[in-house]
Amino acid sequence: MTPTDTDTEDSDMRDLLEVLSRMPNSLGRLRKTALHPSGVRLPACPRRFLYSTRLGWRKADWREALSAGNILHRAMAVYYTGQPPATSVEQACKEAKLELAEEQALWAQEHPEDPFMDTRKREKAIGLGGMMGRVLMEAFPLPDTCDVVAIEQTLKSPDSWKAFCPVPIIGTVDAVLYDRTKEQYWLVDHKSTSDKPAQRAANLTFDVQAQLYRALWNSVHPERRVSGVIHNIIGKPGIRVKKGEKFEDYLDRCFEWYDKQALADPHEPPVQQSYVSFISPVLDKNDELQGLMSEVGRWHKRAVSLDSYPRVGQSFQACNELGGHVCPFMPLCLRQPSAWAEVLTKYHFNKADDDV
Ligand code: SF4
Repeated sequence: MTPTDTDTEDSDMRDLLEVLSRMPNSLGRLRKTALHPSGVRLPACPRRFLYSTRLGWRKADWREALSAGNILHRAMAVYYTGQPPATSVEQACKEAKLELAEEQALWAQEHPEDPFMDTRKREKAIGLGGMMGRVLMEAFPLPDTCDVVAIEQTLKSPDSWKAFCPVPIIGTVDAVLYDRTKEQYWLVDHKSTSDKPAQRAANLTFDVQAQLYRALWNSVHPERRVSGVIHNIIGKPGIRVKKGEKFEDYLDRCFEWYDKQALADPHEPPVQQSYVSFISPVLDKNDELQGLMSEVGRWHKRAVSLDSYPRVGQSFQACNELGGHVCPFMPLCLRQPSAWAEVLTKYHFNKADDDV
């Protein structure tokens, strides 16, 4: 693979907007700008920021991890409405099956030659997500002393934030609890991870996402300011549901695995609950979070050109190391913008929904 020549990029830069304007299916249209709390970080690669955030291009492939995580969140949301664990998981899995079947039918219609989104993978992801939900519910049932005051509530930053961040921030909190004994409100955040939960828990005090959710919640509900965040973290086992296996049998195998892991290493349990109290004020003028939002907001406002969003490196070494995977946008970086429409189709990219 040969990287695109820099001189050629300079000349392409002038034509980039024109090239984008000719792209099919609104692929070349800039996204309406909104930030999700997970996106409030400086981009590892400016060019990637252009592709994924400004233009909203994403690879339309099967992402098991994301789907299992979504099902876990959905199950927890049903559970927080007061349903028993088994019902919550069953309902979440049933809804996910219907939605994914629809997605699969749509995919088959648009890409008849490419049936990679197969049913087995789908079943494994649903089983994994449902199982993790059930394990979390058993490990950390809702305390009797707590009332659920919000479940999956979407929050948008107030206009006053525009003074330091030019784009709105929109995020959905997993849940908020009111602890009657302490008279405190707490955010709840469910996480699944392929790492050890203890590693994820180690740096949660400095978790930007949690701080942002806190700031969003407090600005929308100043009368119910939150005292901290409860992180429910579950590690993913390598175990997947076998062909024809009943969900309850799969669950038993996984419970056994979680028990063994917890006994083998009590300091690094595979399921962990971590309470992080918010002790500092947030969003004052010297606040680091405010500085970060301003910086990321500025990236959203840059002129759309290859110059404004340079590639992270010329050798593509860094591109192989981002998150331990090859960057999915590499085919675009290897070609002239004039060939991008073709590349996007060939590699099954589509457009993320606008969320403003
Ligand atoms: S391939 Fe490399 S240069 Fe291109 S967007 Fe990805 S990380 Fe950036």
